[in-house]
Amino acid sequence: MRLTHKCYGCGESFLKTDMIEIFSASGKTSQWYCPKCADEKHAREAFSDKVCQIFGIKSPGPRIWTERKRLRDTYGYTDNTIIDCLDYIYNIKKMKKLSESLALVKPSMVEEAMAYKKREETNNNKIIAAMNTEMKEYVVPLPKRKEKKKEKINLDDYLDD
Ligand SMILES: [Zn+2]
Repeated sequence: MRLTHKCYGCGESFLKTDMIEIFSASGKTSQWYCPKCADEKHAREAFSDKVCQIFGIKSPGPRIWTERKRLRDTYGYTDNTIIDCLDYIYNIKKMKKLSESLALVKPSMVEEAMAYKKREETNNNKIIAAMNTEMKEYVVPLPKRKEKKKEKINLDDYLDD
């Protein structure tokens, strides 16, 4: 029995029990990944889905992946930061989509997007707090029920056999 298996991502060998099998979209074929590469593969897929949604494309071109790598290496941005920023640029600011590119994602824009997100969250929290206060006025307190005393467990019932 082969205990180690090559990761489809990085090519290193790992114990098969530590690896993750990822199936193709058709479900007919599968590849084995080490945990790190499996995480990266899932992250890429999630990132790809969101980028496609924002740009209305079927799959991101190589340029997007190069830009993603540059943003991660240069600024340490996570996928979430990049997506939040793209969402802000195109869905909130409604800037014109010149091309499918992450070129507009830069520190000044990320800061603006983060500030916007924070403001939105504060506003949402205020709304929720206001709703909670309103709700309280309608809640009629239920009469407290006396809790039934728990029946004592008769050990003999368990020892019949
Ligand atoms: Zn790997």
